[in-house]
Amino acid sequence: MQTIPFLRKSGEPPFTDRGIKKGGQLLKSWSGEEVKGIAIAGAPLSKTSISHSGAYMAPQTIRSMMHSFSTYSIEEETDMWNHTITDFGDIEMHVTELIQSQSRIYSVLKEIQEKHKEAFLITLGGDHSVSAGAIQAFQESRGKVGIIQFDAHFDLRNTEDGGPSNGTPFRQLIEKGVINGDQLVQLGIRDFSNGKLYHEYAKEQGVTVFKMGDIRREGLLSLLKKSVEQLKQTTDNIYISLDMDVLDQAYAPGCPAIGPGGLDSESLIEGVGWLAENPSVKGMDIVEIDPTLDFRNMTSRLAAYIIMHFLLNYSKREGGKQK
Ligand code: CA
Repeated sequence: MQTIPFLRKSGEPPFTDRGIKKGGQLLKSWSGEEVKGIAIAGAPLSKTSISHSGAYMAPQTIRSMMHSFSTYSIEEETDMWNHTITDFGDIEMHVTELIQSQSRIYSVLKEIQEKHKEAFLITLGGDHSVSAGAIQAFQESRGKVGIIQFDAHFDLRNTEDGGPSNGTPFRQLIEKGVINGDQLVQLGIRDFSNGKLYHEYAKEQGVTVFKMGDIRREGLLSLLKKSVEQLKQTTDNIYISLDMDVLDQAYAPGCPAIGPGGLDSESLIEGVGWLAENPSVKGMDIVEIDPTLDFRNMTSRLAAYIIMHFLLNYSKREGGKQK
């Protein structure tokens, strides 16, 4: 075979350093074998958003941002190079039938989790509407779910005004009887971002709501410990639904619904990292990043960093099956 010196194949990194491996290199396409440990799947649906959103592009952008980070944690003096993140790929969306797209998300994620009982699946949205199907699939394949939702918004809007959108996933789960309100803990809900009616609905349904003020007063870690203890009393497994708009707009410019007064990125990284170590936590989604609105992919970059940090902390679980 012919080779020409200094001619590099397209798609290969422009520079490789023998001393540095990239997080993106940990991603390995699913081979058809049973998967153990951390895996990702893309749910690229955002036509279901109340406002314009290009969040369907986020799974691909987050994957590419994983190449921005090395595999070495200086804090833990641990290299994650020998670990794998299995990439199941993206769920195909129907071009015009949004309900059918949501139904595909539910059925594909259910099949993945039923066939790969020891996989920890991170679903990459898409907008927050993908979480309704993702959480139902999680519960049906893994047992009664307790949800920790990071979000500026309740996402408990009624479905009569606009159908099942990114404003309604948790309302849908409650109304369909998939979950009761006491299976849901919301963290980071903030001022002037929600309606009174939906706060009342949350209270009526027994949803636990920790507002941004609660996080400022008590600290995120303390509230997460409280939330996990509470959910463990009545549920089998914990699922994290991470809407990146829980962050202050300074940290997440790529979210369609940005605003001030939100969480800082360091607290979120630490909080999700703590959850990663907890064996009760068995599934997660990351939603609401629109790469077309983002600045230098800051928000996707943060999601990729959270995945790397999650992998690091998940590998500390006792009896963890990380490869
Ligand atoms: Ca949301």
